[in-house]
Amino acid sequence: MNKRLIWVEDEHFSGWCCSVCPWGITAPRLESTVAALAFNRVAQEDFDKHACVSALTQP
Ligand SMILES: [Zn+2]
Repeated sequence: MNKRLIWVEDEHFSGWCCSVCPWGITAPRLESTVAALAFNRVAQEDFDKHACVSALTQP
């Protein structure tokens, strides 16, 4: 199963989440576009490095 980085935003949370496991990174208050782009890059790098909890989908 391919994991995907998905943006989640509601009253209680806004940030990037993994589509197949509980991994997530909360977005801080972003003051500028530059800050947002930097955050998105960090989120992408962390996402690429994280290990999905595959126990949920495979024995
Ligand atoms: Zn994951």
